[in-house]
Amino acid sequence: RARWRRAVALLREFEEGCATPAARLRQVVDAMVVEMHAGLASDGGSKLKMLLTFVDALPNGDEEGVCYAIDLGGTNFRVLRVEIAVGSIPAVTQKVETHNIPEELMGTSEDLFNFVALTLNNFVEREDGKDTQKPLGFTFSFPVRQNSVSSGSLIRWTKGFSVGDTVGKDVSQCLDEALARCGSNMRVTALVNDTVGTLALGHHYYKDTVAAVIIGTGTNACYIERTDAIIKCQGLLTNSGGMVVNMEWGNFWSSHLPRTPYDISLDDETQNRNDQGFEKMISGMYLGEIARLVLQRMAQESDIFGDGAESLSTPFILSTPYLAAIREDDSQDLSEVRRILQEHLKIPNAPLKTRRLVVKICDIVTHRAARLAAAGIVGILKKLGRDGSAGAASSSGRAREQPKKTVVAIEGSLYQEYPVFKEYLDEALVEILGEEVARTVTLRVMVDGPGTGAALLAAVHSSNR
Ligand code: ADP
Repeated sequence: RARWRRAVALLREFEEGCATPAARLRQVVDAMVVEMHAGLASDGGSKLKMLLTFVDALPNGDEEGVCYAIDLGGTNFRVLRVEIAVGSIPAVTQKVETHNIPEELMGTSEDLFNFVALTLNNFVEREDGKDTQKPLGFTFSFPVRQNSVSSGSLIRWTKGFSVGDTVGKDVSQCLDEALARCGSNMRVTALVNDTVGTLALGHHYYKDTVAAVIIGTGTNACYIERTDAIIKCQGLLTNSGGMVVNMEWGNFWSSHLPRTPYDISLDDETQNRNDQGFEKMISGMYLGEIARLVLQRMAQESDIFGDGAESLSTPFILSTPYLAAIREDDSQDLSEVRRILQEHLKIPNAPLKTRRLVVKICDIVTHRAARLAAAGIVGILKKLGRDGSAGAASSSGRAREQPKKTVVAIEGSLYQEYPVFKEYLDEALVEILGEEVARTVTLRVMVDGPGTGAALLAAVHSSNR
């Protein structure tokens, strides 16, 4: 009994450590705004890199033709053919091929880019024949220092990727060289982050789209900033007066983030210690692992799992899709939880009250993640003056301005495939913004946004040449 009480005490402690009441979320919102300003003021001014993308024109529905895209940066690697038709309703049709990245390609840059180039070349030959030359969008979802819309060098790998000699190299050049080696005529027209691709697709459909957020293996966001607010790049001129800024918000950090000892243990296990702190609380690569660390400690300090809980000491054994399945088991006797514990974690015969505890842990992890993501989104809205506070704060005595309609494009399995996550995120938006303002903000899922949007940007930037 004492040991059961210990498990419950650990649970309570964890729950308190992860608490995100609205007041705390507002502190996170404000910290995000402060860091955005700092990152725009100078390079290295903030953990938020606020990277220039050189994307100053977004698709608006006028583009047409066939484009290709490569999407590299998550669990899967995709090649896409996108056919854009002009019409009263902007329309794109696409063909997508998904590939796993073989483990052995995590060796050298040349191996990785050869594989990517060859896969694209085979796909293009099958679709449009040999010697095809079309605009190519390259979605590369890692922090990149861009020199132009079509080139940029890798700052560092994230999300467990690690290919020794790529950091510092121009990744478009790497791909162009690999394409040349395999006899392809295609060259990179637009090098874009996945968030930027998603923003582009969002903008293609909805003109009020001002930002995009990814919540998948990792998490990141981008938005349209006025060039005169990008202080670190004085004299930056664009036709539109704006430029998309890739925040690299996964690396956001603030003392207001609810950090627990388990987050510290998780950080210690990763290759990028002390970095990507926001991402490590929010994204698919890490949520299951946080829950595992809590369960492991419970197994050590209580006997709620009996003797057979060795598997809980295996890092990353509880992946986020399992965490989601546990949280979403709505059967009375939690039979799905029983099955996962038994078959996947080799913990047989966990009694119902133990299973309830496991569900609760998965819920706490999900709840915190979704709410922090919501706070991040409101941070962007606030920076843009679209959180409803601009009018209220003005002392001119004018009637409060009607907030503009705002669309945020969103992509990633956590939001798309995990209903509880979406529910918690949407709920937190309303909580922070208030119902009235929240009604002016719409999150729109952009399926395959990163790749399709990159193809659209390739179209935009090839016709601009
Ligand atoms: P990407 O790897 O390009 O970000 P996704 O957006 O599909 O691709 O995100 C994959 C991540 O989402 C994986 O890390 C996985 O943990 C998580 N994930 C996939 N399916 C689900 C699901 N049904 N519920 C919760 N998380 C999921």
